[in-house]
Amino acid sequence: MLCGIMKQCASFKPSPQVQFFFLLFSLLLSCAQIEPSKTEFVFGTVCTITLYDQGKDSVYRDVFARLREIENYMSVNISASDVSRINAAAGIEPIQVREDVFTVIERALFYAQLTDGAFDPTVQPLVSLWGFSDDKPHVPSQPEIREVLPLINAQNVEINRQTRAVFLKERGMALDLGGIAKGYAADEAAQVIKNAGINRAIIDLGGDIVILGEPKDKRPWRVGIQNPNSNPGIFFGVLEITAKDGQQSVVTSGAYERFFEEDGIRYHHIFSPFSGEPIINDLLSVTVIAPIAMDADALSTAVFVMGYEKGKQLIDSLPGTEAIFVFNNKSVRTTGSVDFTITDNSYHLIHN
Ligand code: AMP
Ligand code: MG
Repeated sequence: MLCGIMKQCASFKPSPQVQFFFLLFSLLLSCAQIEPSKTEFVFGTVCTITLYDQGKDSVYRDVFARLREIENYMSVNISASDVSRINAAAGIEPIQVREDVFTVIERALFYAQLTDGAFDPTVQPLVSLWGFSDDKPHVPSQPEIREVLPLINAQNVEINRQTRAVFLKERGMALDLGGIAKGYAADEAAQVIKNAGINRAIIDLGGDIVILGEPKDKRPWRVGIQNPNSNPGIFFGVLEITAKDGQQSVVTSGAYERFFEEDGIRYHHIFSPFSGEPIINDLLSVTVIAPIAMDADALSTAVFVMGYEKGKQLIDSLPGTEAIFVFNNKSVRTTGSVDFTITDNSYHLIHN
């Protein structure tokens, strides 16, 4: 089984017709029982769930219902979401949130601390300034960037576990959980599937992948890794993994996912919280392999921001966590025991 990492890019905006086609396609597949999978659009991206053995319609329905619930509570683009309510109350008052929203914010703040602010869930004013939240991306002026930079500071988020309250201390601050929420959603999808008694499945939320159990032939799962220089769904190599303790996740962050071009320069959606600009280093993408997708998601974004040297040090310090780094010059490095085979010969693996 080769399951693909397909990530959204700015130029990929599914029209209603395309969405309809995907839904019809997935329906036809499930009717024909060629592939027991279902695809829907959630989190603005293509989400495919594949249930093996007893893949019942009701389980698919429950999984997608849970995904939409998470989107409704965590999206910064939905005005009634818990995250939007927190943002609207910035500098005014703490807001009590649902348990799941609190869990993700707490973990995001943990990673902000662990990465010395490279991962920062208060990055929203930058995402908005660069026009990624309203689909009108453009390069802001340096004074505009300087004005919002003091607002990007995870240390100014106060949380209270007992009351599940979240408070942004400064007016104008805003959370954006885009770097971690999809990973959490993938973990939650896995939980719904396991609760239904299904032990073998693949969850692919636009490239945040969770595998459950093992393939029928007991061999490792084979996961295609997105070619960062190519269209969504085109792989440059294959990762072989097994699900330790029944579950494993693979999450990729890259400059290719969402971007725009101005005056011939490409600007993407992962920001340095220190300069206020899209990260420029020698990396094209970072894939993180970890038991929990929420962790892999935060780490892939964080390591992309930190760059290879610091990022590798961080990954090496975390037990059970591995990474694949793809560089601008098409060289590839992996950590520890990653079993990765390049299938596109224009890339080459550098052995450590
Ligand atoms: P991912 O695709 O998981 O790497 O997440 C990218 C998304 O995370 C962006 O679209 C932003 O919403 C958000 N983001 C951008 N830069 C950062 C950062 N330095 N720390 C945390 N989240 C970020
Ligand atoms: Mg991420």
